[in-house]
Amino acid sequence: MKAYALLAGLAVSASAAQTPLARLPRVDADAVLAHTKVLASDDYEGRAPGTRGEERTVTYLVEQFKKMALQPGNTDGTYIQKVPLVGITPDPRTVLTFKKGSQERQLKFKDDVVAWTKHVEATAAITDSDVVFVGYGVVAPEFQWDDYKGLDARGKTLVMLVNDPPVPDPANPAALDPKTFGGKAMTYYGRWTYKYEIGAQKGAAAVLIVHETGPAGYPFGVVQGKTGEQFDLVTPDRNKGRAAIEGWLSLEQGKALLAMGGQDFDALKKQAATRAFRPVPLGVKASMTLHNTLRTIDSRNVVAKLPGRDMHLKDEYVVYTAHWDHFGIGDPINGDRIYNGAKDNATGTAGLLEVARAFTKLPTPPKRSILFLAVTAEEQGLLGSQYYSVTPLHPLAKTLANINMDGLNVYGRTRDIILIGLGNSGLDDYVKKAAAEQGRIVHGDAEPEKGFYYRSDHFNFAKQGVPALDPDEGIDFIGKPAGYGQKVRDDYTQNRYHKPSDEVLPEWDLSGAGEDLEVLFAVGYRVAQADRYPEWSPGNEFKAKRDAMLKR
Ligand SMILES: [Zn+2]
Repeated sequence: MKAYALLAGLAVSASAAQTPLARLPRVDADAVLAHTKVLASDDYEGRAPGTRGEERTVTYLVEQFKKMALQPGNTDGTYIQKVPLVGITPDPRTVLTFKKGSQERQLKFKDDVVAWTKHVEATAAITDSDVVFVGYGVVAPEFQWDDYKGLDARGKTLVMLVNDPPVPDPANPAALDPKTFGGKAMTYYGRWTYKYEIGAQKGAAAVLIVHETGPAGYPFGVVQGKTGEQFDLVTPDRNKGRAAIEGWLSLEQGKALLAMGGQDFDALKKQAATRAFRPVPLGVKASMTLHNTLRTIDSRNVVAKLPGRDMHLKDEYVVYTAHWDHFGIGDPINGDRIYNGAKDNATGTAGLLEVARAFTKLPTPPKRSILFLAVTAEEQGLLGSQYYSVTPLHPLAKTLANINMDGLNVYGRTRDIILIGLGNSGLDDYVKKAAAEQGRIVHGDAEPEKGFYYRSDHFNFAKQGVPALDPDEGIDFIGKPAGYGQKVRDDYTQNRYHKPSDEVLPEWDLSGAGEDLEVLFAVGYRVAQADRYPEWSPGNEFKAKRDAMLKR
């Protein structure tokens, strides 16, 4: 009887999984635009965490989920996951001192060094901490790479380079080895956030990255923008697991520090691109004290659930995410102080609502459950999604996939759809199939070296091991001249991105977004029906974590 039921279930699943995209419920692009207009209106005050804008946004989202008769996504019976945030502002009247024998160098805050602490404390300091140069600061077992090689880093100040180690291709020394650290593409080992995390795991007192414009992808001026208040989550240990001081040195100061240690920057940089590199103690001691102003904010993720219909699989999930927050009210530009965040990310939040509505129109729900998660504080460093990923409401080992929406296409229909991090996981095939059913193609992003895959909320799922999709708008527009896609993209980046002018414009056309959302809907539906979990591709930096998680 049981075997029979199982077989019958499989037969149903096989046919259900094959439902052509054209026969699935549609995603209503007009409704996406209507939600966007509400969320991006001046009434919502730019949706900053901890403001009246948050109140209004959260109320709107909960109301919409209730109207669709979706269930509360939190196990406590609410549509809310509280996210406690702390804002830490360092006093800029501080210096970083390097000492070696009778030599001493004092580095000016902001001009020479940008530093902060994640410790939730009024004071964070290092005193006479030994400085060690650790190359790129990377530990990557899948590439047989370890820049620490038995170094006891406890209490030390680690100085490292930004980006992945640039390993030449043995077949063509002018190019990077595609088999090591993704070749030209940046892996997570190249991101500055990784450098601080690995330094903390090693027990370092301070982690300082030497800034270089090329490998970082942005000038030191961008780093100097990080001297004000920074938000973070508060862990039970008040973030004491982090290094006391994190920061950046200007390239000039990085070179001067190595020279003080009797070393040559360029020579060490060359060694650091090889597996043979060993940590180099500089014989220099570092001291710095940060005095901080602290404030706490309780923000919220909004979460709704469509329960799966299969009693054996309904505790397994596909999670859709979109960040509801933006920058709120800030410095005026052209007399406008409200950072409406229309494209970024009222559109994605609106898309999340309408994908949810499409799921409620299915004749029968999928076998597994679907979670719709509107996260907070993305603009403060992906914090709402980070909170969910470390304190998930439903186990990540039973979460098949994350599908993220951040900035929808507002310029009309395209022949293509872009997947940032194309090749990362088996989810790509779902996207390719659904896009093909619309007569469209999928390709990767044009600048993989900039590491865009690590810059929105799906990344927090990836980091914890869950295969995660980062779709982006296409670039090949139907009925528009060649180059139109790049033109509108550049115009947005230069004139509207993170500015008060990111507003809904009369010429916006959400028809392309509607098609993209139908692809994402089909992908989530089919993953929720599938016989197997999607997997990371071999060699992917998140694969080991997923494999370990699923073995438990
Ligand atoms: Zn965004």
